Amino acid sequence: MTLAGRESKAFSYNQSTRSPLADHDMSGEQQINLFNWDAPPSEPVSPIPVNFDPELIPTGAQVPIPSGTYQSVADLGKHCDRCQRCDLAKQRTHAVVGRGNPQAKIMIIGEGPGQTEDETGLPFVGKAGQLLEKILASVKLDSQQDVYICNIVKCRPPENRVPTPDEIAACLPYLLEQIRIVDPKIILLTGATAVKGLIGDKRGITKIRGEWMEWQGRQCMPILHPAYLLRNPSKDVGSPKWLMWQDIQAVKTKLEQLLAD
Ligand code: SF4
Repeated sequence: MTLAGRESKAFSYNQSTRSPLADHDMSGEQQINLFNWDAPPSEPVSPIPVNFDPELIPTGAQVPIPSGTYQSVADLGKHCDRCQRCDLAKQRTHAVVGRGNPQAKIMIIGEGPGQTEDETGLPFVGKAGQLLEKILASVKLDSQQDVYICNIVKCRPPENRVPTPDEIAACLPYLLEQIRIVDPKIILLTGATAVKGLIGDKRGITKIRGEWMEWQGRQCMPILHPAYLLRNPSKDVGSPKWLMWQDIQAVKTKLEQLLAD
């Protein structure tokens, strides 16, 4: 099951768990119908229920985030700032929602915030972020104009550990809303956690980097994480940096093709 699939299962109605929605005039059965619980996220989702209170979203992962809940990434960010849907809330300084152009044609999704990101509230601003800027600039892509950058989870995992499946499932609905709002033509998934978290492909990143995949009508490419490139500075043919150079050129070519269509 993909994590997106896990998300829909995680929201399965459980009578032993009192949903905050229970106070809003909906029976459990009505909720199941209204939120189309068993449909995979790639299918059209139900409209926002009449009695749905979006203010409950940050209170717990059992509260769904119907497609269309947010009008903008800024609106979504207000919920992330006070979100308690998973334990990563406990140690965060800032929720890290995204940066760049919310109307960009390219979205870059990483794993989660690191220390610098937690301190600043911005994704990819440490050394790895600086390298990402250079990679984009090498094909004349500007990080403020041409891309929107965000992460699978919005709050920093302690010691920069990999986020757990439950943490990813709790945060994934925010990401799905970000993707809907930004509506990118191309999604770049930096590192294995981003690939697994969004599209459920568990293969190693070195096996699938540079491979175009279609997900919900969008072109996705797994790429190596800039932090990995920092640990492997060689530019020799076949090295991680050389591979990234091939991949980012392919991305630029694909973007030009898509914009010409
Ligand atoms: S990681 Fe996501 S789901 Fe967890 S507290 Fe932060 S914003 Fe909420």
